[in-house]
Amino acid sequence: MTLRVGVLGGTFDPVHHGHLVAAQEVRHALALDTVLLVPAGNPPHKPERPISAADHRLAMVSLAIAGRPGFELSRVDVDRPGPHFTLDTLTILQQQWVAGTRFFFIVGADSLAELTGWRRPGEILGLADLAVVERPGVRVDLPALEARLPRLGSHLHWVNMPLLQISSTDLRARVRDGRPIAFLVPRSVEDYILEHGLYRAGAT
Ligand code: ATP
Ligand code: MG
Repeated sequence: MTLRVGVLGGTFDPVHHGHLVAAQEVRHALALDTVLLVPAGNPPHKPERPISAADHRLAMVSLAIAGRPGFELSRVDVDRPGPHFTLDTLTILQQQWVAGTRFFFIVGADSLAELTGWRRPGEILGLADLAVVERPGVRVDLPALEARLPRLGSHLHWVNMPLLQISSTDLRARVRDGRPIAFLVPRSVEDYILEHGLYRAGAT
């Protein structure tokens, strides 16, 4: 039987319930065997701010999915030097998984809107279909994207999820300002952030 694998890439600084609900809803809607959460090593799109050490981001993802079958942490991007392009990540995953495995690259609408700026988007669609979830406040001009990338339509799956206006950027600001993050991230992740002093003013 063909394996069906979702791939959710992200900075995960920190992982939050927006990521986790998206992963779960796509897994269910597209009948995926597993969803890989793939923390970025050195993300090409975010050179403007220092990101937390990969070890912290990996640890938080690991805590978030502990005891949850069907979700796995992948080190494919943190274990190799950057920059990490989606095309390379998917190529390596394809080599790591049994031949014939079908991949679904999961993105929020904000990431889909940037698709044509990615490296060789047409080739990405040759390796994986796209599973897209909405993100509050983000509108995607699909006809414009399809005009630039005609293959898109036949490789796109929209998946509904309860919209969650949660972002890592907001969570970092909350910690920095001493505001709560409870219930926005799993408790284990909240505890990890507090224990390790992540995102506090002056911390890196
Ligand atoms: P940051 O604010 O640092 O950019 P983020 O919350 O956007 O963090 P990322 O790690 O950048 O999280 O996102 C990884 C992927 O998860 C992206 O495809 C993004 O669109 C998606 N995503 C993140 N948050 C949500 C959410 N609340 N709902 C749906 N998708 C989300
Ligand atoms: Mg983001």
